[in-house]
Amino acid sequence: MVSTMSATLVDATCSRRISGFARRILRGGEITRGEAAWLFSLESSADIFDLMAGANRLREHFKGNKIHLCSIVNAKAGACSENCSFCAQSSFHQTDSPRYGFVDPDPVQQAAEEAGRNNVTAVGLVAAWRGLKEGPMLDEVCDRIRDLAKSGKTRPDASLGIIESQAVADRLKAAGLECYGHNLESSRAFFPKHCTTHTYQHRLNTIRYLKNAGLKICSGGIIGMGETREDRCELAFSLKEVGANVVPINILNPIKGTPFENNPPLPPLEILKTIACFRFILPRQEIMIAGGRTVNLRDLQSLIFAAGASALMVGNYLTTLNQPVEKDLQMLADLGLDPNGKKKDSADSKKPAANAQKKVARRSLR
Ligand code: SF4
Repeated sequence: MVSTMSATLVDATCSRRISGFARRILRGGEITRGEAAWLFSLESSADIFDLMAGANRLREHFKGNKIHLCSIVNAKAGACSENCSFCAQSSFHQTDSPRYGFVDPDPVQQAAEEAGRNNVTAVGLVAAWRGLKEGPMLDEVCDRIRDLAKSGKTRPDASLGIIESQAVADRLKAAGLECYGHNLESSRAFFPKHCTTHTYQHRLNTIRYLKNAGLKICSGGIIGMGETREDRCELAFSLKEVGANVVPINILNPIKGTPFENNPPLPPLEILKTIACFRFILPRQEIMIAGGRTVNLRDLQSLIFAAGASALMVGNYLTTLNQPVEKDLQMLADLGLDPNGKKKDSADSKKPAANAQKKVARRSLR
């Protein structure tokens, strides 16, 4: 449990140690697993805010002022053959989640248009099934990706489950896909506690095929499933090893009817600390805060950027609602951050925050 008591005695050497790690990373160094485990173990709010200050500096240094925005469209919903315990779309769980087959082109184009209007970089086609194999469904998926790419409204991304051959990954790349989302979800040790219908190795193999095809990798996980801090630390290092370009962090939003429906929520400071630890381990990656942020962080949502996040999933999630995009854009404007910044170079990205605010305000008024 994170202590927020002002009476907590804070060891000043913690602060020095944290800023020492940040300075090392700013100079191009790394932290070890042991050092990262120590960061995850921090308990006092004073230490956590010191950690966030370091993570914020790392974000500013490596990512500038730009916040990358993504959205998703549920391209095939419900009745999934897999048994992921956090997921409302698994056929193993009794939930109110909608069910439908692979969507027609129109809703996908509408999502792309909306994304374009909100300066969202990419729309990810997400499908609730085990994965993709050669066959008519792959043909249809590739058609949809080609249509999206041709429309030029936004970048087509996809998250279509497990891939078991290089040929499938190559076909997706040839259709115009740039980035594929495939979360590791948790540490290798914790994985069988939330899924037994496929393995961690299936996920690693999928990422290998995608990388071989030349696709960018969006891969992260879910926190709040009952995993330990060591599991979270292990996940971050695994994501570093597989070379994830974008690292989404989801926070469990317990869904009625799933095995995790009664999981206790993570305290907001524990969530912010986890984001900051990920920034220390993955200083150059886009760290994206995705599902569960509104329900778990409430008024503290804007602190995710101070904790090192550099990307945001906007619009509704697969089975739960998010706050309106306009509210997210206003939050970024208030923080002087630049959504999918139009600024072309790093020098530009260091201009005063007021410039970014003016730009965002102009865009929001369109
Ligand atoms: S997380 Fe994906 S694979 Fe797992 S049950 Fe949900 S839709 Fe299926």
